[in-house]
Amino acid sequence: MHDDRQPVGIEIERVSKRFGEVRAADAVSLRVEPGELVSLLGPSGSGKTTLLRLVGGFETPDAGTIRIGSRDVTTLPPQARPTATVFQSYALFPSMTVGENVAYGLAVRKVTKAETARRVADALGLVGLAGLAERPVAALSGGQQQRVALARALAVRPDVLLFDEPLSNLDAELRVQTRAEIRALQRELGTTALYVTHDQDEALALSDRIAVLRDGRLVAEGPPSALYAEPPTAFVARFLGGANVVRGPLAARLGGRELGAGEALAVRPEHLVPSAEGVPARLIARQYLGREAEWVVEVEGETLRLIVPPETEVPGHLAIAAPRTIPVRDDLAENTPGPAE
Ligand code: ATP
Repeated sequence: MHDDRQPVGIEIERVSKRFGEVRAADAVSLRVEPGELVSLLGPSGSGKTTLLRLVGGFETPDAGTIRIGSRDVTTLPPQARPTATVFQSYALFPSMTVGENVAYGLAVRKVTKAETARRVADALGLVGLAGLAERPVAALSGGQQQRVALARALAVRPDVLLFDEPLSNLDAELRVQTRAEIRALQRELGTTALYVTHDQDEALALSDRIAVLRDGRLVAEGPPSALYAEPPTAFVARFLGGANVVRGPLAARLGGRELGAGEALAVRPEHLVPSAEGVPARLIARQYLGREAEWVVEVEGETLRLIVPPETEVPGHLAIAAPRTIPVRDDLAENTPGPAE
């Protein structure tokens, strides 16, 4: 992988794909710059995997164009594209060795035997499995199998790495560790990447930019911190960080001004605080979470979530204030919402 090729970008232009009545991709346009890692984030059924499969060549769009570098790949089969995919299921062959699995993508691409051996060794080295080529893949742990799947993708030396929820079968600790390794490797190699996840923490931690999908449409994109600080819509604010969304008189009281038509106020749970000068509230539930505590309160008929320091005492007369609020476009009623996992 340490070769002299320049990274190339991906250009998805007004791409649509229907399955019967379902618009799995609805005129999606997205650019991934050379060397960038962009996450596709959204609730179940929002079209993340479909978009990834369209870029990988496992689906053909009904309309629109996909370019990788300067090449139009819209109708090319997967093996003719400069892409390699790491699947959620790993898609390994259990009866083969680690090395045979890693070499699999190369046989399809007609790479010579000597070159294959070199690339398999390189790729296994990159993922920390050097020397395990002869092991039966079935004898490895889940985490190691995930690395084999990654090595198989890297061995192709793709211009573009495609990840389809690659960590969802790993336990929480391994997931956090492996995502950091994937990110470090992707940066080091400078390989452009598209990464499907429904896990907001993963998207925030991994990405140069996050693209949020809803019902097959791209509804927001931006660097993690910008999208978190200034989500454009209520849906994005709720999906990314579980913001409270308030409207009407309560929004005016918390935000200090009347809202315009079609506007709502997103209030992050960590931006709601118990305060003597605030709006009277009633505690409904409280959970101790170690580093923090979560309170659920009822305020003027609305249920709101607060994140407070774990030792916070509940005052006799509870009231809350919002030192920070984010005005957003109120899109929650536009479709059936599917945020907050
Ligand atoms: P998940 O997180 O659950 O994997 P997703 O965001 O990746 O969801 P997709 O798998 O892309 O969503 O599915 C988008 C929509 O298209 C869904 O309604 C799904 O049922 C539908 N769909 C996807 N693939 C097919 C197919 N091969 N045949 C029929 N419908 C499909």
